[in-house]
Amino acid sequence: MSDAAHHEVWFLTGSQGLYGPETLDQVALQSQEVASLVAASAQMPVVVVWKPVLTDASGIRGVMMAANDDPACVGVIAWMHTFSPAKMWISGLDCLRKPLLHLHTQAHRSIPWSSIDMDFMNLNQAAHGDREFGYIQTRLGIPRVTVAGHVSDVETVARIAKWARAALGVAAMRSLRLARFGDNMRNVAVTEGDKVEAELHFGVSVNTYSVNDLVMVVREVSDAQVDELVQEYDDRYDVAVELRAGGDRRASLREGARIESGLRTFLTDGEFGAFTTNFEDLGGLRQLPGLAVQRLMADGYGFGGEGDWKTSILVHTLKAAALGLPGGTSFMEDYTYHFGPGPQRILGSHMLEVCPSIADATPTLEIHPLGIGDRDDPVRLKFSAAAGPGIVVGICDLGDRFRLVGNEITVVPPDEELTALPVASAVWEPEPNLSTSAECWLAAGGPHHTVLSSALTADVVTHIADMTNTELAFIDADTTPRRFGQELRWNNAYQRLAAGL
Ligand code: MN
Repeated sequence: MSDAAHHEVWFLTGSQGLYGPETLDQVALQSQEVASLVAASAQMPVVVVWKPVLTDASGIRGVMMAANDDPACVGVIAWMHTFSPAKMWISGLDCLRKPLLHLHTQAHRSIPWSSIDMDFMNLNQAAHGDREFGYIQTRLGIPRVTVAGHVSDVETVARIAKWARAALGVAAMRSLRLARFGDNMRNVAVTEGDKVEAELHFGVSVNTYSVNDLVMVVREVSDAQVDELVQEYDDRYDVAVELRAGGDRRASLREGARIESGLRTFLTDGEFGAFTTNFEDLGGLRQLPGLAVQRLMADGYGFGGEGDWKTSILVHTLKAAALGLPGGTSFMEDYTYHFGPGPQRILGSHMLEVCPSIADATPTLEIHPLGIGDRDDPVRLKFSAAAGPGIVVGICDLGDRFRLVGNEITVVPPDEELTALPVASAVWEPEPNLSTSAECWLAAGGPHHTVLSSALTADVVTHIADMTNTELAFIDADTTPRRFGQELRWNNAYQRLAAGL
C-alpha cells in the first residue's frame, strides 16, 4: 500500500500583543529557527510546518480547527516562546482533536551571563511562559506529551520524533478501514470484541465480507498478472526446487500468486488498510492465504489470523508508526517455550502468516502440507527473525474497555536451526524473565496473538495508548508480579472512574 501520503506536524508558537511588533518579530524569527532545527532532524518522520506566532484566542482557535480539518496534519507542537496568557488558549485547546506535544524549550542554549539584561529576560521567558501553558492544559485535562530540553540536543529531538511516530500511527488508525473475510474462529474468546466501540474509540471501521466475494476477485486475476508475480517471487526469494519453473508444484505457486493478486485488488478497490482471514471459512479459496498475507503485511497492511481484527488494527497502526525505521513489524503468536537449558525463551510463529519485514535473511519460498483448513497445501515464506531488541504488544477487549498489553523483548537466534519447522518463526527472551513476563501477561488477560516489532520501542506504544486514551499494561526490565498486579487493580479503578457514567 502507498506510504506516499504527505504527513505534517504543525509548530505553534504562543506569545501576546503586549511586547510590541519588534519583539514579536524576534519571537517569530527565533521560533522559526527552533522549528527548522526540529524539522532538519533525520529522525523526524514527518514534515514540520511552522505557523505564524499566536497572540489571541480567535487565532488560536482558528489554527486548532484547521489542524482538525487537515488530513495531512497528524499532530500539533506548541511552545510558549514568551508569556502567552493561557485563558486565550482555552477555547482552542478544547476543540483540538489531534495529538498535542508541548515543547518546553527556549531559543538560547546558554545564559549569556556577562551580558544578560532585562530585555533578554523579557524575550526569553519560556521557563515561566510554558508553566502557564502547562497549567491550563492540566486544568482542562488535555492529554499531551511534554518534552523539555534544547532542540540542539539529539535526545530532545529524538523524543519529539517518537511522539510524531505515535501520531502517525494514530492518524493511520483513525482513517483505517478493515475487511474481515469471514467471522472469527468459532468458540475463541479473545478474538471477540466490540466493533462499534472500536469505531468510536479508535476510529476504525471493521466490516465482514463473504470469503466468496474475495474468491470472485481471485478468479478474475489474469494469467499475465500471475506470470508477473511469480517472476517477482523467483527474483526476490530463495524458491524451493519443486516451486520453480518446471518444478512439479509450480501450479501451487501460481495459485498463491493468484490469491495475492486478488487480495490486493479487493483491498485496493475497497480502500482497506487491514484485513483478517479464518481457516474455518475459506469458501472457494484453494489455499489458506500464506504467502499473500506475508507480502501484504510487508507492504504495510494490518493482518490478524482467525478473524482477529483487533490485532490486525494494531499491526497496521504500528507499521505506520515505524515508517522508514530499520527493523520490522509482524503479526505474531506465542507458540511454545524453552525452559532451558540456557536462557529461557519463547518461540513465536503462526501457521503461515509472519511478516518478512522481520526476517534475518532472504526468505525461502516453500510448500508444505497444512493439517487445518482442509484445502490444498499452501505456499509460504520461511525465515527466522533477525536478532535484536524489540517489543510485543497485544490488545484485548475487557468488556468495558480495550486494554493493550506490552513486553520488552530481545529477539535471539534459535539455539539450533529449525530445519523441520515449515513456517517462519521468531525466538525471543522477554523482560525481565520468562516467568515474570508470562505471569504478568496472563494476569493482564493479554492475548496469544500479538504484534512483534523490532522497529519500535515502548515509548512510542505508550504515546499511542495515551493519544487514544487506551489502557496500557507494559512489562519491562523493572516489572515485578506484585507491583504489576497492583497496577492492574489501580488501572481498573482509574479506567472505570475515568469512563464516567
Ligand atoms: Mn493464531
